[in-house]
Amino acid sequence: MNQLYKYSLDKTSRKFICPNCNKKSFVKFIDNETNNYLNEANGRCDRESKCGYFKKPTSNCITSTYNYDPKVIQPSYHNKTILQQFSNTRQQSNFITYLLANFAPQNVSQAIDKYKIGTSNYWSFATVFWQIDSQNVIHGGKIMLYNRDTGGRIKEPFNHVSWVHKQLKINDFVLQQCLFGLHLINSISKNDIICITESEKTAIILSINFPNYLWLATGSKSGFKESLLQSIKDYKIIAYPDKTEFNKWNTTATLLNKKGYQIQCSNLLENIDIENGGDLVDYLF
Ligand SMILES: [Zn+2]
Repeated sequence: MNQLYKYSLDKTSRKFICPNCNKKSFVKFIDNETNNYLNEANGRCDRESKCGYFKKPTSNCITSTYNYDPKVIQPSYHNKTILQQFSNTRQQSNFITYLLANFAPQNVSQAIDKYKIGTSNYWSFATVFWQIDSQNVIHGGKIMLYNRDTGGRIKEPFNHVSWVHKQLKINDFVLQQCLFGLHLINSISKNDIICITESEKTAIILSINFPNYLWLATGSKSGFKESLLQSIKDYKIIAYPDKTEFNKWNTTATLLNKKGYQIQCSNLLENIDIENGGDLVDYLF
């Protein structure tokens, strides 16, 4: 096991002017979380015997531990051609059938285009929700099966959730999830409001009905966390946790707001008469 410190000496060959001997032999500390140089004073002079200047950061801490093998921790991504391979035009998924029965066709086809909703034959008429980041890099494709009449998830006899890389049997695929809909962030301005739900389905349906907001989804209860939210730190965010999840999400939001996030956590669903775990779609439709 290796430990990753917040600050470590720059491993590149780049040298700066040493604050002690003024020779270009100074290796600076790097902030591993931002990849920026720490400052002018913290670092080590390479002229060990002649100068020996070495100033460590006063507050260094271990940020993570990992098994040293860069191949293991490097996330995998899908090639863009995969979108066509799992395109909704090949076969209409149950989820799209449900949307078309409840919303205007032009709105549904806009939503398919925006969120790049796909179809998988892993289970017949299953849906693919791609997780694509702001650089249009595809992190993964989540496969889910819905009931075409009710729009509910198929959870019996087992919970129908899988991933495109599993369907394709890419065994060494390292999934690093991002928010669902994150690629749409390039279409909004810094003053626009981002709304976050847990479910991809809910984000899509709310985007049809409330198009003035950008609707993203965490994909799971535990997905409401800084590693996923840091990509939208600069935006005003309204989070809509499922009923009974408010306290957990609100605790996270409060912590993140102290770090400069602007998250408002809605308790709308806690006090209304829907089943536990219900969300905005159960409330509005
Ligand atoms: Zn020096």
